[in-house]
Amino acid sequence: MKSCWEIHRLVSEGQDRKFGFGERLAVRMHLLMCSACRRFERQMKLMRQALRRFPGE
Ligand SMILES: [Zn+2]
Repeated sequence: MKSCWEIHRLVSEGQDRKFGFGERLAVRMHLLMCSACRRFERQMKLMRQALRRFPGE
């Protein structure tokens, strides 16, 4: 079981695409059970989308 800070680090580094199957599953399971990390992941996603919308600068 991953701890919240591990999840935060992985999510904030945007590494979820590089995960192996087991690791991605562990993160998904944690997000299902942990509303704090769910909220954090959602914020990171919104931030990355915003950054893509305004490239450069
Ligand atoms: Zn958590």
